[in-house]
Amino acid sequence: MTTLVPLSRPSLGPREQAYVQDALASGWVSGTGPYVERFEAALAERLCRSHVVAVSSGTTALELTLAALGVGPGDEVIVPALTFAAPAAAVLTVGATPVLCDVSPADWTLDPVAAGELITTHTRAVIAVDVLGHPCDYPALARLGLPVIEDAAQAHGAAVGDAPAGSFGLASVFSFHVNKAVTSGEGGCVATDDAELAARVRLLAHHGMTPQRPYVHEVAGRNGRMTNLTAALGLAQVERWEELVAARRRVGERYTAHADGLGFGRRPVRPGVRASCWLHTVATDPGTRERLVRLGRASGVDVRGIWPALPELALYRDRAPRPWPVAAAVSRSCAWLPTSADLTDEEIDRVVHAVLRPAASGDPAPGPAVR
Ligand SMILES: *Cc1c(COP(=O)(O)O)cnc(C)c1O
Repeated sequence: MTTLVPLSRPSLGPREQAYVQDALASGWVSGTGPYVERFEAALAERLCRSHVVAVSSGTTALELTLAALGVGPGDEVIVPALTFAAPAAAVLTVGATPVLCDVSPADWTLDPVAAGELITTHTRAVIAVDVLGHPCDYPALARLGLPVIEDAAQAHGAAVGDAPAGSFGLASVFSFHVNKAVTSGEGGCVATDDAELAARVRLLAHHGMTPQRPYVHEVAGRNGRMTNLTAALGLAQVERWEELVAARRRVGERYTAHADGLGFGRRPVRPGVRASCWLHTVATDPGTRERLVRLGRASGVDVRGIWPALPELALYRDRAPRPWPVAAAVSRSCAWLPTSADLTDEEIDRVVHAVLRPAASGDPAPGPAVR
């Protein structure tokens, strides 16, 4: 069956066209240029941070932040068991050990109490993932006394009170991959108020040298820059931030109105938190989750089970010193429905009628078992 409703698609319009054309015409197509600077400045303002460094991906942003903090072999970094795998992979990439920690039943983000029990003399940092668009409990995480890196890759537009996701912890990272709420195609950034940390990230992302001293490599840096062409696309999207975030929220609300009536659960939200809608997540039981995915396959609607808990993967099996029952239960019982800023009401209704409704009624689902 061809895909009629994709899991996500970008919303690209005349502003994106104009900025990319302009960058192309200017000849500034690689890792420096006016759009990179404007992109960084626009993000710094939005995230209430004094420094933003644009980089080539969210994963690169995580690696560079860890490297800039001096995290390496022999060090441990606490990472939630429920997340897209990039934070754990970034810890391995810098040569350190990810220590996987269960999430809280209250909001499915890193459990501060469980994290505290995993601290050893080797623990150097915590990567707190604003999973499924819900900011972590940062005041509680701060009490752990470790540098906290906020991974806000799924949380564009989320907030706690007036504080936006991306403003918490020592540094925050975003991804602007095409399936995120704000995209540059591929891309990411590091946001921080720590001038030294920002300078270190920039140094590492630019071959370990500064523009003031070309070819004087202070450290073995890498090339993690965002291109001006990419930043042109990214700036257009950042300028549409409110619109893009609100459009996804509208999609989530329409799904929720239907799903509530059909008896599906919601992701829990802590009081005072405004969660963002990245991919709309329905909570159910593993059997119904399976039916949702199969009905989606049969009707051309890209419904997906969320990630397995990381310790379920062979690569991370030995990385969780303590049980992770909440991450296990959530990962097995949740599914994503197609979510894009420009998803039409007709498409949403198609998802509801072809997938949500029959899955809720217990109709036998066609096709072989799929994750
Ligand atoms: C998408 C994502 C990343 C990785 O971002 P890329 O830009 O794809 O490298 C990192 N962390 C989380 C939580 C993500 O969802």
